[in-house]
Amino acid sequence: MQDEEKIQRTVSGGPETAGAAAKTELAGMTEAELTAWAAAQGLPAFRGKQVFEWIHRGEDFDGMTNLSKEVREKLKETAVAQCAEIRLSRKSALDGTVKFLFALRDGNCVEGVLMRYRYGVSLCISTQVGCRMGCRFCASTLDGRVRDLTAGEMLGEILAATRYLRPEGEKVSHVVLMGSGEPLDNYDEVIRFLRLLREENGVRISLRNVSLSTCGIVPRIYDLAKENLPVTLCISLHAPNDRIRRQTMPIANKYAIREILEACRHYIRVTGRRVIFEYALVDGLNAGEAEARELAGLLRGMQCHVNLIPLNEVKERQLKGVSEDTVRAFLKVLQERHISATRRREMGDDIEGACGQLRRKTINTSRSEATCESLT
Ligand code: SAH
Repeated sequence: MQDEEKIQRTVSGGPETAGAAAKTELAGMTEAELTAWAAAQGLPAFRGKQVFEWIHRGEDFDGMTNLSKEVREKLKETAVAQCAEIRLSRKSALDGTVKFLFALRDGNCVEGVLMRYRYGVSLCISTQVGCRMGCRFCASTLDGRVRDLTAGEMLGEILAATRYLRPEGEKVSHVVLMGSGEPLDNYDEVIRFLRLLREENGVRISLRNVSLSTCGIVPRIYDLAKENLPVTLCISLHAPNDRIRRQTMPIANKYAIREILEACRHYIRVTGRRVIFEYALVDGLNAGEAEARELAGLLRGMQCHVNLIPLNEVKERQLKGVSEDTVRAFLKVLQERHISATRRREMGDDIEGACGQLRRKTINTSRSEATCESLT
């Protein structure tokens, strides 16, 4: 296990280090691991703590001002502190939502979205470059999965946003794992990332402010329940029965809704937290009052909440969204049947920052930044 871990923490150098030996990614380490790593480099243990604190404040080696230049240079040769940077950002004129294109060190890019609410600043992060789940309504899965993100890269998205927010005196307070990728298809790194959030001298984002969204990989839901991490579990349900679900979500051929709900009941029992069901309304498919009644029957008595989202249209996909009247009628059926439900507020409508619209981008660093101007 130790060796496996070591390998995982060591990532190949990004394009800027092509040909150089693999560098160690420090952002994915706990403070204890970083302290041990520093000691192995012949540094005093307190250096590990300092580096850990700097990394979690979003600093790169150059900004670690209580380290001598010599130490910083030595660290730079063997290690990486920050593993995601903002290549592009687009701010919504409507509500201040910001869509980011995060560049990773190997030239891949993932998108993220920062939303400002009354209760704080929420960052939607990606967990994989692309996705292999194949949901028919989603832009993230159009090119399949390219690779998993490491825990350090997921934290890196938060740290890049932290740097962006610093001049505005703001800070990320909430995190949603709802960008590109299926978090439970990258289970070990996602769990490591979640544990990093609550390290005493780290970014310290309460796991109660973290939501993890999954298309419903049932065995991993049971695993998650065992981790003792109080994150809010969100299930992309999108259908009241398996027949409809199979029409848009390939994962529905593997796990039945009945099995997903059983796993959710278990999660609720173990964690004491309610589960959120996401339901994107698709014209002519799942959005009628009959489907609303069926959904209400399915969820009766469960400690849960339903988030209704009128489908965000993706240009490569034929599926259509629904009118506000349809959303209202659907909502009314649920509420009459005492199912807690709301229509999800849409943020960043003018920047394609909404659910299912995030894409993978590849930046070839030998080309100019114009390559990623396709961020729309
Ligand atoms: N793979 C995870 C995380 C993706 S989260 C999951 O499936 O939950 C993104 C959320 O947006 C999911 O609920 C997803 O089903 C939903 N979504 C994807 N495409 C969408 C679209 N075009 N319109 C509305 N919601 C969409």
